[in-house]
Amino acid sequence: MTKIKSNELVCLGIEGTAHTFGIGIVKDKEILSNAKDVYKPKHGSGIHPGEAAAHHKEVGEKVLEEALAAAGVSLSDLDILSYSAGPGLPPCLKATAEFVQELAEKTNKPPIPVNHCIAHIEIGRMLTKSKDPVIIYVSGGNTQIIGYASQRYRVFGETMDIAIGNALDTFIRETTGDYPGGPILENLAKAGKNYVELPYVVKGMDLSFSGIITAALNKYKQKEKLRITLEDICFSLQETTFAMLTEVTERALAHTGKSEVLLTGGVAANKRLTGMLDIMCKERGASFYVCPMEYAGDCGANIAWAGLLQYLADKNDEKPVEKADFKRNWRTDDVEVNWI
Ligand code: AMP
Ligand code: MG
Repeated sequence: MTKIKSNELVCLGIEGTAHTFGIGIVKDKEILSNAKDVYKPKHGSGIHPGEAAAHHKEVGEKVLEEALAAAGVSLSDLDILSYSAGPGLPPCLKATAEFVQELAEKTNKPPIPVNHCIAHIEIGRMLTKSKDPVIIYVSGGNTQIIGYASQRYRVFGETMDIAIGNALDTFIRETTGDYPGGPILENLAKAGKNYVELPYVVKGMDLSFSGIITAALNKYKQKEKLRITLEDICFSLQETTFAMLTEVTERALAHTGKSEVLLTGGVAANKRLTGMLDIMCKERGASFYVCPMEYAGDCGANIAWAGLLQYLADKNDEKPVEKADFKRNWRTDDVEVNWI
């Protein structure tokens, strides 16, 4: 059997750890397609894992057809299959593993399990051409400050409770009933005038957001008495939580001696956050990169790209088709990075 050249390999990646079911197809560094369908919680409440998994099962075939059509390839053109195997919500991970398992049997390709967080890092590095950055991964479900050292992506700092995106979503849901909260909060914050005192919680290199949200909700309940507005609280929430993220990132740069910062995840859309990090990087002489928004949030293209990197490093194309599995708490630093 003649193996096609590595730079012609076509890899399909499936994302399904939380709200997004996405399928992307890459051919070397070229992203051929990135189809997705995002689950929206009913009744404006938070994500319901069972509902999200049912969503993934419902839209799976449709998203696959879209991804193949947009890439102009058929199932028989695929060389590699990869899927997000964790971390994530178990019902969603199970639905994703079952989906890729079926595809593996149809195509006779072993499904490569990809760590969701590492996929975010690798697509960001590839698209921004950053080489060895301190990575800030801020999303609905994750908040980590990461850097590469000795064959692993090491987590230098992370949230001790909820993720920053989840924190902002919770505050907006409780005060306005809307979702997702991040973009709404950013807009409201622009009209904020007064800084409202909130707890600033950095412990060593780790962060905590849940107490800040409780404090912000308490201020909201007393807003008439305190003569403050919802806009003031949104402004203050951004100033406080983003200053915390910037502080830990700056310390990670100082400790590691790295000279690049890469921001990724859905919260990377926030202009105040990018503004603060930009100032910090300029002051330290570091380069600041933001993953293009189309690929910063959860998507299949990043799983496909990370799957391809892993495949080329492992040379595991001869592996038998094993049953696709998942790991709900799969940590970023558990993965041996053998492609760098
Ligand atoms: P992800 O989990 O990576 O798909 O990102 C989704 C998260 O990003 C949600 O928690 C959103 O509220 C958050 N988000 C999206 N846009 C913004 C923004 N402009 N400011 C802050 N957070 C945002
Ligand atoms: Mg994510």
